[in-house]
Amino acid sequence: MKKSKYQQELEKEPYYNLKEGDLGEEAKFEINKDSFKGPFKCHGKKTALIEKKTSYGDLEFSYNVWQCKACKKEYVDMEQARVYEKFLIMKKFLMENPITIERSMNYDGKAFFFRFPKELASNLHKEDLVDIKLLSTDGSMFLVEIKHRHS
Ligand SMILES: [Zn+2]
Repeated sequence: MKKSKYQQELEKEPYYNLKEGDLGEEAKFEINKDSFKGPFKCHGKKTALIEKKTSYGDLEFSYNVWQCKACKKEYVDMEQARVYEKFLIMKKFLMENPITIERSMNYDGKAFFFRFPKELASNLHKEDLVDIKLLSTDGSMFLVEIKHRHS
């Protein structure tokens, strides 16, 4: 996979600000490359873990950062940066007008289901696992990934 601009930046210098101007609210982090895990120290004290929320259209996303109680500066460790990057990847994907398939919802009296289009079903197997990730808190957006089981 091609290295993202953000990864290239990360390797270039130990500290940098991750700026994502397109987001509703601008995200600014300081990434400490030498510390792979928080809490970090700022103003002589340990930073506290806080939850942040951001959204793109209907896509809601929450993530954690370390924040200094004194100056409110935010730090992310490598794992948090990876999580945030997933959101940026998802957002980029949605902006690039992905191929969209509309299906009718079916209900058999017990369960809701939809049918895969024939064109996409050729690579599906009965033993496959369906990995579903909830993308929005109202339960209307999912990321569905078919995982082939290793036999
Ligand atoms: Zn501080």
